[in-house]
Amino acid sequence: MTTSGMDRRSLLMAAGLLPITATSAFSATPQAPNMAQGQPLLGNPNLPVPDGEKTKWAIVGLGTFAVGQVMPGFVASDRSRMTAFVSGNPQKARDLGARYGVDKFYDYGSFDKIAGDADIDCVYIALPVGLHAEYTIRALKAGKHVLCEKPMASTPEECEAMITAAKAANRQLGVAYRVHFEPNNVDVAKRCQSGELGTLRYFTGDAGFSANPDWPPHKWRLQKGLGGGGSMYDIGIYALNAAMMCLGEDPVSVSAVYSYPKDDPRFAEVEGGVDWRMTFPSGISAQGSSSYCYAGGTRQKIFGADGAITMDPASDYYEQRIMMQKSGQGPVQLRSGNPIDQFGNQVDAFSMAAKANTPHLTPGEMGLRDIRVIQAMYRSADQGGAKVAV
Ligand code: NDP
Repeated sequence: MTTSGMDRRSLLMAAGLLPITATSAFSATPQAPNMAQGQPLLGNPNLPVPDGEKTKWAIVGLGTFAVGQVMPGFVASDRSRMTAFVSGNPQKARDLGARYGVDKFYDYGSFDKIAGDADIDCVYIALPVGLHAEYTIRALKAGKHVLCEKPMASTPEECEAMITAAKAANRQLGVAYRVHFEPNNVDVAKRCQSGELGTLRYFTGDAGFSANPDWPPHKWRLQKGLGGGGSMYDIGIYALNAAMMCLGEDPVSVSAVYSYPKDDPRFAEVEGGVDWRMTFPSGISAQGSSSYCYAGGTRQKIFGADGAITMDPASDYYEQRIMMQKSGQGPVQLRSGNPIDQFGNQVDAFSMAAKANTPHLTPGEMGLRDIRVIQAMYRSADQGGAKVAV
C-alpha cells in the first residue's frame, strides 16, 4: 500500500496507465437489490489522457484562425494541451493565456529559446504563409515536432527545406489539412475508395470567398511575400487536396486559366481566381475553381458509375451537407459525426504521431505535393491554359 492508502495497481489505474477493471469491492459485498450501490466500470471506455500526460503544444501566431478554431480544438481534444503562446502582441498573448491557463510566452525574437523548454513537445504554426518555412525550421532545430498550417509554404523549395530540417532533427512535420480529420469528409473518402459509387469517373470542386483588402487577415493574403500565392494557395487548395483524397491518386498533368478582373486593384501581387483541371494516371479528371472574387463557399461533387456524392458546404468549420444519390434511387443525406471535432481530432492525431515519432496522416510530403501542383497550374495559366506536367 502507498501512503495515500491506494495500492500501486489502483494508482496506475487512476493515472490511466492501466485499464480500470472491476475490483473485489464491487462483487464481494452482497447488497439489498433496491439500494443505491456502486457498480464496476464496464466496457472499454475511451478515457481522455490525464492532463500530466497530454502532449504539450506551443501555438505560434495568435490570429483569427488560431483563436477562433485551433484553441477551442485543444480544449475539446483528449491528448493535447496548450502550454505556450508565441506572439508579437504580448498583451493579447497574456489575455489568452489567462483564459486558457497558459503561462509561458515567447515572441518572435525569443522564439529559439523554446529549445530549452521541456513544456513544449509540439509547435503549431498559424502564421501567414510567407513565414511558415522560417518558423517551422526554427522549431525543428529547437527539437520540436511541427504541425504547420496550410498551404505549407510559398515555394516547393521552401517545402523541401522544411522536410529536410525535420529529417535532420528526427522530428515529425505535418501540414494541417483539417478535413482529413473531419468525420464527414473522412466518410466520403472511404465511400469513394470502397467502390460504393462504382468506378470513379469525375470530381468537381469550387472554393472561394470575397477578399477584403482592408481587413488585416485578408491584407497579408493579397501580398505575395506573406501570402505565397493567391486564392489557389489559400482556399483553392481545399478542393485540390480533396480531389486527391477522394480519388486516391496524384495528378500527372494540369491546365488552368486565371479568372479574375485584371483591373481589380486587390490583385496586383497575387491571383484573384483560377479555373483548373487535373488529369490522373487512371484517366479520371477533376476540375474546379478558386476565387477571392465570389461569395464564400466550398462545394464538391464526386461522380462514380453507380452514384454520386454532393458536398455543399464541403469543408466548413461547423457544418457540412453531404448528399448521396445512387443510380435509380432518390438522394439521401449522410451524416457522420460532428464537423467541429476536426480541430481536436487533428491535434490529437499529431500528438500521437509525435509521441511515437511516426509520420502524421498529412505529412510535409503532402504539403509539398500540393504546392507543386499549384505551381504547375500557375505555369499553365501563364501560358494561357496549356497542359503542363506536374
Ligand atoms: P491572421 O491574420 O488572422 O493571423 C495571423 C497571425 O500571425 C497574426 O495575428 C499575428 O499573430 C501573426 N503574424 C506574425 N507576423 C505577421 C505579419 N507580418 N502579418 C500578419 N500577421 C502576422 O491569419 P489567419 O489566422 O487567417 O491565418 C493564419 C494561418 O492559418 C495561415 O497559414 C492560414 O492559411 C491558416 N488558416 C487555415 C485555415 C484552415 O481552415 N485550416 C483557415 C484560416 C487560416 P500575433 O499577433 O500573435 O503575433
